[in-house]
Amino acid sequence: MKPVWTPILLCVFLFAGGNRIKGKYSTSESTPVAKNLVIITLDGIRWQDVFKGADSSILNDPDYNDDTAISKLLYWNSDLAERRKLLMPFLWKVMAKKGQMMGNRDLGNNFNISNFYGISYPGYNEMFTGHSDAGIRSNKKHWNRNLNVLEYLSTLSEFNNKVAVFASWDVFPYILNTKRNGLKANCGYDSSNNGLTSDRFTKLQSLALQEEEHTATRDDRLTYAAAKIYLKTASPRVLVIGLGEADEMAHQGKYDQYLMRIKEYDNILSDLWLTIRADPALRDNTTILLTTDHGRGSGSKTWTDHNMLVKGSFQGWMGIMGPGIPALGEVKLDIDNYLEQLAQTIACILGKKFEIGDPAPPLALQ
Ligand SMILES: [Zn+2]
Repeated sequence: MKPVWTPILLCVFLFAGGNRIKGKYSTSESTPVAKNLVIITLDGIRWQDVFKGADSSILNDPDYNDDTAISKLLYWNSDLAERRKLLMPFLWKVMAKKGQMMGNRDLGNNFNISNFYGISYPGYNEMFTGHSDAGIRSNKKHWNRNLNVLEYLSTLSEFNNKVAVFASWDVFPYILNTKRNGLKANCGYDSSNNGLTSDRFTKLQSLALQEEEHTATRDDRLTYAAAKIYLKTASPRVLVIGLGEADEMAHQGKYDQYLMRIKEYDNILSDLWLTIRADPALRDNTTILLTTDHGRGSGSKTWTDHNMLVKGSFQGWMGIMGPGIPALGEVKLDIDNYLEQLAQTIACILGKKFEIGDPAPPLALQ
């Protein structure tokens, strides 16, 4: 059966002169449009681990692995292409074949974080507002003064009540300022911020609350389970799924646990893809965008941390696949892209232009 919705092929984005290079940005005059968009953010996952698989200097260090022999069995292969598939099989066997992966700095394809701090709140701020804000220096729960693309979209009639956020980290409502804009959000263990409730959510949340230790980050599997229910039952046009346990594991110096979480994220991505494929309302008209809010140390001892003093904190990456997105695979162009370009890219994928606060131009996906 043909999909009910017929996609507009391209969102035309006009710059003065229509240049491909606008200042420091590589951009495009047009972006392939989809009806729906799912954005998955993986907090603090290094491009090195995504593009090169497990790092032998960390994998063989007993300080960072419970059992280095087991870690090697699970994640090591001397061939780079095979090694990264061990860690993220869906990403490399499907997403990188059907879509695009940006950020392999070994190929000169840089995906940069624009803010000065290399931590999460500033990262998510630029991702969703389209520009960095030098005044946002910490991860404290301050209501963000900057307007974001999600709330912009939700003011448009066709997206009204069709934008939702599920995030493990309990700071997301502040970053997106749900108090100001009423965006539907289900984040962390703080039920007061949940704009989303149903019997099944409540059961999931109570399951989460039975966990012994409550950190700022909810169990990612619960976050995804809730988001998946919502995707299947509420027909959102824009769904954000923010996952964050890998970052916590990295801060604790547990490389084996960090890798296990990344593998879990790959499973989630695979399950999301199958869920979309199985639903006639989503199949062939939904784009998936995958990215991170910051990098982390590139050294064998600095990988645990990220901040303005740690080299590597400003190195991100992204992946995308969906209707009309050219299957370029691993992008080998020697160019720089920026995390702050995602806000306008998000709008353009949905056939809109984000016109608040002079956001950075969209990424070139053609
Ligand atoms: Zn962190």
